[in-house]
Amino acid sequence: MRNLLKTKFIKRIALFLTIFLVILNLSVIIDTKINAPEGNNILLISIDTLRYDSLGINGCDIKNITPNIDKFSKEAINFKSCIAQSPWTLPSHMTMLTSLYPLTHKMDSPKALEKHISVDQSIITLAEMLRNQNYFTAAITEGGLVDSKYGFSQGFITYDDDIKTLKDGFCRLKRLLTKWRKKRFFIFFHTLEVHAPYIRTQYLEKLVDKEIINMDQKEELENFINNPQREKSVRRKLKDMEIFNKEVCKNLYLAGVKYMDSYFGKIVNHLEKLDLLENTMIIFTSDHGEEFGEHNKGAFYDLHFQGLFEVLIKVPLIIYVPNHDNYKGKLVTTLVGIIDIMPTILKYLNIKPIERIAGVDILGYVKNENNDEIYRCIFSETHHTNEVYMKAVRTPEAKYIKNYSSLYKPENEGFYNLKDDPLEQKNLANNSSEQYKELRNKLTEFIKWAPEFLKLKTTEFELKKEHKQRLKDLGYIK
Ligand SMILES: [Zn+2]
Repeated sequence: MRNLLKTKFIKRIALFLTIFLVILNLSVIIDTKINAPEGNNILLISIDTLRYDSLGINGCDIKNITPNIDKFSKEAINFKSCIAQSPWTLPSHMTMLTSLYPLTHKMDSPKALEKHISVDQSIITLAEMLRNQNYFTAAITEGGLVDSKYGFSQGFITYDDDIKTLKDGFCRLKRLLTKWRKKRFFIFFHTLEVHAPYIRTQYLEKLVDKEIINMDQKEELENFINNPQREKSVRRKLKDMEIFNKEVCKNLYLAGVKYMDSYFGKIVNHLEKLDLLENTMIIFTSDHGEEFGEHNKGAFYDLHFQGLFEVLIKVPLIIYVPNHDNYKGKLVTTLVGIIDIMPTILKYLNIKPIERIAGVDILGYVKNENNDEIYRCIFSETHHTNEVYMKAVRTPEAKYIKNYSSLYKPENEGFYNLKDDPLEQKNLANNSSEQYKELRNKLTEFIKWAPEFLKLKTTEFELKKEHKQRLKDLGYIK
């Protein structure tokens, strides 16, 4: 009798457990179905320090420098006037991932390098918005000033900031894409491949042809750069060899662009292999450009933070929208900023954006391609050190720069008519034109508005030994 009762009890427990597990399983399936995001995947690729005109499609004078990007752009929208909100990595990427101006998020300050600060945690990032919609979110970055410590990792399930080379980054991306191919994902991919130290030598041959260096120098430089155990910096070596000049630096840089393009091709091929080109929006861009002596004599090696000229803040922006013929091979000349990337992604995915973002959706500009007159002001600034402090306003036709420091150009103020003078060689500041006064006023208004847009505070943090070394290697700190 006792045994019978015991058996009955066990049977009841087993039945109860089975029903419980069936219900649990069903609810998980229902939950996943209900909560799975409907929109496509998002792959945001930021090639640090990529000048707008370093791509074949944007007019680079080296033939066939970026065949993969050029081919890709035929299937995508190429924005011909995209402005970065800062010419250095930390504030610019913060803007890209939050749609807030540097004056609002406050990560453009000498404090960022001297004391090491992280962004206010109340900020809402693109990754957080997408994670809230059940997107799988991951970042693969070469770190440095995009290290998680600055607050970049908010909203990412994984934030890999210890990648050392583009090849390593690509391998991780490849693995992740394969693993997540059936999921809905947002991946932020960042590489410093094009950033100094310039370690690609493919175009040294051209310099020999032009008699800028001789064959012996070419070989010596190649041997030095290709030796992973090199004892001094590339900059030091160029100086010691007395070939530290803009031609040599620019050609080393452009060889890096060529190398990067080959990996971009591999990324697209892998997406195609996994059938992900059918359901993945790809945004290809950069945080800022680089100067090769166009404005400041001697500024041709890793000095992008020092100003707000077009070579420093105009960047590539190419957006691939899957299954959308209207967006294939389009050119958009309307003025846009990397501040627009977040709202554009959110609008595309039908996600209601938070109220407090400063950018706009720019896919709408494709329909208005014949309407270049859309008048818009885009702002940029740099406050890298106490010697570098400038702010600028850019409209479709003109730019006004206010320089609060004295080390780099323009002196005090700059005003350029970009239609007649796209290379910004003729400073028209202090003329009495209405346009000059108007832009100066616009900038004054912006400087009052941006810090009030959201009240944010930064927090200081202690720099770890490895992070410090990484920043030293990249030339950010001494
Ligand atoms: Zn950068």
